[in-house]
This record gives sequence, structure tokens and C-alpha cells, in this order.
Amino acid sequence: MKRLVSGIKPTGELHLGNYLGAIKQFVDLQNDYDCFFFIADYHALTIRPTAKDLSYLTRHVAAMLIACGVDPKNTTYFLQSDISEHTELAWILSNFVSMGALNRMTQYKEKSDRHGQNAGLFTYPVLMAADVLLYDAEVVPVGDDQVQHLELARELVRSFNAHAEKTFIEPKPLLNTGARIMALNDPKHKMSKSIPGSAITLLDDETAVTQTIKRAVTDSDPGAKEMSPAVKNLFTILEGIGNRETYLRLENQYKDGTLRYSELKEQLIDDVIAFLGPIQKTYHALLKDEDALVQILEEGRKKAQPIAAETLAKAKKALGLIVG
Ligand code: ADP
Repeated sequence: MKRLVSGIKPTGELHLGNYLGAIKQFVDLQNDYDCFFFIADYHALTIRPTAKDLSYLTRHVAAMLIACGVDPKNTTYFLQSDISEHTELAWILSNFVSMGALNRMTQYKEKSDRHGQNAGLFTYPVLMAADVLLYDAEVVPVGDDQVQHLELARELVRSFNAHAEKTFIEPKPLLNTGARIMALNDPKHKMSKSIPGSAITLLDDETAVTQTIKRAVTDSDPGAKEMSPAVKNLFTILEGIGNRETYLRLENQYKDGTLRYSELKEQLIDDVIAFLGPIQKTYHALLKDEDALVQILEEGRKKAQPIAAETLAKAKKALGLIVG
């Protein structure tokens, strides 16, 4: 099986957009690839969360991915900061990338406008390159916004391999096929924790789910030929988490012009609640026993670290550093 590496940052409570756009893919990919999934807590530092938030969100994301179906037995599932080789390799790699190349990263421009121009945010793509190169990743799942970063990682490989002996392989992008979920109250923007009323988090209770969906934007023309982005978004969520037959029935009703949006919303409320129930149950059970979660991450560390250590030693030797 080809090796695949991907991380998720603990920067917010996970929502249906994260699930349908990223986590669901993780769950599917674990059967086809040798998956290394990690909680990117060092990457989360680039926006300087409070210690309390970072600590909560790291546990939240670590437990939620498992609750959503990521299987730590079938993958290598670990915490980035548990493996110091990530940051060591990032330092080494930073000597093989130009300031100009980092300056071209569009995500830095967007993120630094919001979070300030810290150097961590600027060199983030180098740490990301280290994350994947350490494990000889053959494929890396990427959304549109990560394509540029992966290309930089590939350039880094070429630059390093040209300077020293061939050490790394160039990881290939696996374009993310996940849905892009839009804000329920404003379909022009992505569903996001930072837009109030836009998201259903995976921890929302029945009241919150009901309220958010009831307030979701639709349109005034259920019979229109072209489905509006707002209604399409509701259908995308229904398709992603619900029953296929129900989805097709409602879609046909839409096509016939007989669908009432209140009916679509009622169905969506029922399906979202039914979908979240078992996930929340597993999540709370996992967090009740903190030791068990730590133990799962420790098992992942034990699997990942020897590989990381071997790659780092290889890179150091290739550069003439003395390896004990
Ligand atoms: P990032 O800054 O890495 O995008 P986020 O927490 O915003 O961090 O997202 C984590 C993952 O969830 C990413 O893979 C991202 O593409 C995906 N994601 C976030 N919001 C949405 C959304 N509204 N629809 C689909 N995917 C999303």
C-alpha cells in the first residue's frame, strides 16, 4: 500500500464542513493507503491559541477523529509535537527554500492579515514539508489551498537531493474530492467556526442543530431550474450524512417543483441528529478516560518515531552532519 500522510490542526471545534470536507476522506483513505494521520498541534501554534484552548482542542480533535471513524489500529495516528524529528527536519529543510518562494504562498498573505506576521506562519510550509518527507509519503491529500504548499515541498526535495545525495522522494498530491460546505446563514462563504450561525459543530445538541438548520438560508423559488447555492448546500449535507434514498426522493421532489423547504429542513434536522448521536457517544466515552486517549497517541508515536528518526539520520548524514 502506498504511504499517505496528512495532518489536521486543532484550531477549532470540528464542524460538518470539516467532517464532509476532510475527516470523511480520512476514514475512506485508511482502507486504501498506509495512512499516517497526525494532530498538527505545532501548526496550531502559528495563531497563538491560549494554553487552555490548545490543550482542549488537541484532545477534542484527537478524540473526534476516532469517533468519526479514523481507526488508530489501522493507521499510524499520533501527535505532531510528540515527535521532535518534525521540527528538526524543518530546520534542516529551511536552508533549502528561498524567502521568495515562501513569499509567494498565498495562504501566508491571508493568514498573516488575520493573525499577524509571525515567522512561524511564514515558515509553516517548511514544517509541513518536514511532516510528509519524514515518512516518505508517496501521496498527500490536498485541498485547493494546499496545492501550493505541496508544490513547495516537492521543490524542496529537488533542491535537497541536488545538493546532497538523493534522500527524499517527491510526494504526489491526491486532490481532495470532499464536498465544500457553505455557511448555512450565508452560502457565499465556507462554513466556519469564525462565522457565527454558519456551522453545525459535531458536538451540537438537538436544540442547536434544529435552530441552525431552521435559520438556514434557502430561496424563494423552489421550482427554479437552477438550484440556488443555499439549497444545493443543504442537499450536499443531506447526501453526505444521510440516507441515499431519502436524498434522491427529495431531489426528485425538487425537480418536480413539489418540494417544500420546510420539509427538506425537517429531514435534514432528523438526519443530522441521527448522524451526530453515535459520534458524540463515542467521543464522550473517549474523553472520559483521558489515559486511554493518551495511550492511543503513545501507540502511534511508537510506530511513527523510528521511521522519523531513520529519515532524519539519513538526511543528516547526507549533509555531512555527524550522526552518533
Ligand atoms: P485549515 O486552515 O487547515 O483549512 P480548518 O480547520 O479550516 O483548517 O480545516 C480543516 C480541514 O477541514 C481542512 O482540510 C479544510 O479544507 C476542511 N474544511 C474546513 N472548512 C470546510 C468547509 N466549510 N467545507 C469543506 N471542508 C472544510
